Amino acid sequence: MDPVELQANLRTSLRYLKGVGPERYRILNRLGLETVGDLFYFFPRRHENRSPVKRISELDFGDKECIRGRVMSRGLVRLRNGPSIFRVVLSEADGARGARPLFATWFNQPYLAKVFLPKSAVILYGKAEKKGREIQMIHPEYEIIPEGAGSKTIHFGRLAPIYPLTEDLSQKAIRQLAFGAVGNFSALLKDSLPAPARRRLGLKDTVFAFQNIHFPESEEDYRAAYRRLVFDEFFRLERFIQARRRMWQKEDPLLSHRTGEEEVGKFVESLGFSLTPGQAQAIRDILSDMKGTVPMRRLVQGDVGSGKTVVAAAALVFTAMNGFQGAFMAPTEVLAQQHFMTLSALLEPMGITCGYLAQHSTPEEKRRVLDGLASGEIGLAIGTHALIQESVRFKKLGLAVVDEQHKFGVFQRAALKKKAERPVHFLLLTATPIPRTLALTLYGDLEISVIAERPVGRAAVQTFWVAEEKRREIYHFMETAIGQGRQAYVICPLIEGGSESRAKSVTRVFEEFSRIFPLQKTGLLHGRMKSDDKRKVMKDFKERKTDILISTVVIEVGVDVPNAALMLIENAERFGLAQLHQLRGRIGRGAHESFCFLFSQNTNEETAERLRVFEETPSGFEIAEKDLAMRGAGQILGRKQHGLPELRIGDLAKDLDILEMARREAAHPAEAKKEAPVS
Ligand code: ADP
Ligand code: MG
Repeated sequence: MDPVELQANLRTSLRYLKGVGPERYRILNRLGLETVGDLFYFFPRRHENRSPVKRISELDFGDKECIRGRVMSRGLVRLRNGPSIFRVVLSEADGARGARPLFATWFNQPYLAKVFLPKSAVILYGKAEKKGREIQMIHPEYEIIPEGAGSKTIHFGRLAPIYPLTEDLSQKAIRQLAFGAVGNFSALLKDSLPAPARRRLGLKDTVFAFQNIHFPESEEDYRAAYRRLVFDEFFRLERFIQARRRMWQKEDPLLSHRTGEEEVGKFVESLGFSLTPGQAQAIRDILSDMKGTVPMRRLVQGDVGSGKTVVAAAALVFTAMNGFQGAFMAPTEVLAQQHFMTLSALLEPMGITCGYLAQHSTPEEKRRVLDGLASGEIGLAIGTHALIQESVRFKKLGLAVVDEQHKFGVFQRAALKKKAERPVHFLLLTATPIPRTLALTLYGDLEISVIAERPVGRAAVQTFWVAEEKRREIYHFMETAIGQGRQAYVICPLIEGGSESRAKSVTRVFEEFSRIFPLQKTGLLHGRMKSDDKRKVMKDFKERKTDILISTVVIEVGVDVPNAALMLIENAERFGLAQLHQLRGRIGRGAHESFCFLFSQNTNEETAERLRVFEETPSGFEIAEKDLAMRGAGQILGRKQHGLPELRIGDLAKDLDILEMARREAAHPAEAKKEAPVS
């Protein structure tokens, strides 16, 4: 007896299915398909509308269509040293007299002579064309159908699934397998969602969902199936996040910060400006978290220039006043350096000794900082991911801050957390705003404070995408502004230009600018320079010893030189929307009116759209939403960054409403269970 019938279940190996021999089984394995259940989850990329099935006389030329006909005659021609040509002449299926025949042609498929037998009924799908008086189809898809059978088959007369495939397996073969699997096995599915819950949420049952995700009766049914399966997927995701959250929330009374609010207040007063409401609220949120016994996990989200650093500084003061050390991790050396300068200036007067640690610190410097951290003499370590290396030991770490956290993977964040013997408070800063529902999912185990406004007295940055002909004018404008005391960034996509590259390199542009602006001082910055050199270049720029800084995206995040009010971006097409916004965030940080000029010769429509959006949209939140819409969530939030299970069907950017529903359900799992219908 057929073993499938004997004890079929969803873990049944595909090798027991009809039509799967050893060779095909290997190919399926390569696609990650081993069991019937895997096939259920092998979702079509799209569906092709292959209905209705027409008569030959009803064909519209130029479109892909299905026709049903009958084989009148056929012939195979082999050209010497050339292709073989197989032709079939089809008449109307009902043999209507006087109707015109259809000629179907295939190259190099001589075996078709054994498939298309005279008088057999067939369905073809392809583009119908008129050549002279002949109606023809070249290389149509085909199916021979039993006499008297209807025109709706697995492949034709329906919305036909198109699967993501390798070369070795045809759509037809996989479609056949999927059809058999879904048809014969879906009765074995257990629905993880009871009927009342389904009714309440307006979701279909699992059997319907799997059948219609593969072979939908209508587009509407497909959408309903999609909703159900995406819900299941998001539900699992949310459960995972909530479990992660519970794991994190191990209490430790010794972590509770009990004193020091007064000092934080004094620190804030010493700043020389007043906090924006968002900053003040974020600090209140943080202090209240840190007074608790559950380790804080808070994300401060604020557009570039919103002033996240002082918020972190206030938290660092608080932890120091409670006898703990702090760690501040930044994604690049340039940024870490700058934070070191800023934070030491702010915190040393409060009696907090700061140490700097990066890959390229000298051995003596490293030794000194490591010893200081181990003994507790150094109260705050600022650095790159050098901070999470094995050799770093803290005496009593209380607060870890990660700046521009989207630049780090979860593993790096976790490693920093492990630096402490006990749990630590955790503060993440990010300028990459994401829609709230999405944030709740990706950072569902984080609390979020949003700094919505920019400090007062900041003029907005005016952005212009400039035609190449206007370059001289822009240079002139820059010269004038620099003459008035401003500074400028020039951003290039590359360090060195290879001969094949048409994009501008910093080294070339640096030479150009040094020539074009002989009276201004220029600086050059890129990632391949030695740390000491980088540090010197940044310092010179910050101290206004240079006027124009020509740089790669190493200055993308966080760099803060309020006097810089001009930015010129070369080959702007090379940068993504979010990245452009980060870059632009380097200017408009002081009271001076700021200008960002983009140069791009690229005329590609997608690029043009991106640059136009960028030109018109000053708000980081809006940019993020448009970016998300334009690129999809997957690309923006790489798996590496959020560390969540991979999604097979749902799209975090597009399916926000389902995500929200799943999040609510997962938080109150009254009826839903967590098992997947197939595992
Ligand atoms: P980001 O949020 O991009 O990290 P920063 O923390 O680097 O922003 O702050 C940008 C600049 O704004 C810094 O020079 C900082 O001193 C200044 N700043 C921060 N908060 C305020 C405020 N409330 N008023 C005026 N200036 C501020
Ligand atoms: Mg910053």
